[in-house]
Amino acid sequence: MLKLMSVINKEYIDLQKEILKKQSLWKKEISQDFHDSELSTKNENMPLIEQIDFKVSIPIYKSWILELMELLSDRQPSLTGEMGQIKELLNDVILERWVKEVLAFNEYYFTNLANTEKISEWIPQFLAEHAIRPYLRQIADVYAEDLTSFKHTGTCPCCGEPVRLARLEGKVGKKVLYCPRCYASWSEKRTKCSHCGVDHDDKMKYLHLENDSTKQLYVCDECNSYVKVIDEKQTLKKDEPALLDLNTIYLDILAQEKGYGVTIEKDRVN
Ligand SMILES: [Zn+2]
Ligand SMILES: [Zn+2]
Repeated sequence: MLKLMSVINKEYIDLQKEILKKQSLWKKEISQDFHDSELSTKNENMPLIEQIDFKVSIPIYKSWILELMELLSDRQPSLTGEMGQIKELLNDVILERWVKEVLAFNEYYFTNLANTEKISEWIPQFLAEHAIRPYLRQIADVYAEDLTSFKHTGTCPCCGEPVRLARLEGKVGKKVLYCPRCYASWSEKRTKCSHCGVDHDDKMKYLHLENDSTKQLYVCDECNSYVKVIDEKQTLKKDEPALLDLNTIYLDILAQEKGYGVTIEKDRVN
């Protein structure tokens, strides 16, 4: 994600907005056939998706990937050749593998595949990732209540994405964390570090931009991590988490310039 920062511009944001629109339609498409199963062995320290048995329909997943490819070729005709090459690869076996590896954050698998097939490094993971998100968002929706009791720090309790975004909501400005990947949300004490869990009480450290006090970074010197905190007590129209995350990417840059990062799960493959 952060690798893309150098190419963040208006065209990129527009492309992302179109993808978000598609993802929201796709989520509707699967929502009717998606039923939650009882969580019998709920381990509150492990992301939910590792604990539930859910089936990704490969024909549907494939159709979404094809749509994304079409969108990318439209936007950037120079990609058409590579898209054709990828199309040739997409059989059921490889698509099952994509689902598995993208859920495991296996960047290495996708980079390796791109290198072997001599296609741009970012493309396979980009496609696999954006086509899985409607499923993740459906899961976060269906299990919203279960997720509130998860005791996760550092990563999203639903999908395992590193934590980096929160909003202050309501009159009192309750801190609510949002996952820009699956849209799970959960609240947390404001002075608690979302990564290591230390409660800083009145010693919480903030960084913010001089011209906008509603956008802050909560940073922790115990674990060198940060969370972007957007004060939306006065905000009426709220952007969806993925868009809010993209529109505040300058805060990620600021945090990283100051030496802070976001936790990467220990078992992540890089
Ligand atoms: Zn998530
Ligand atoms: Zn910390």
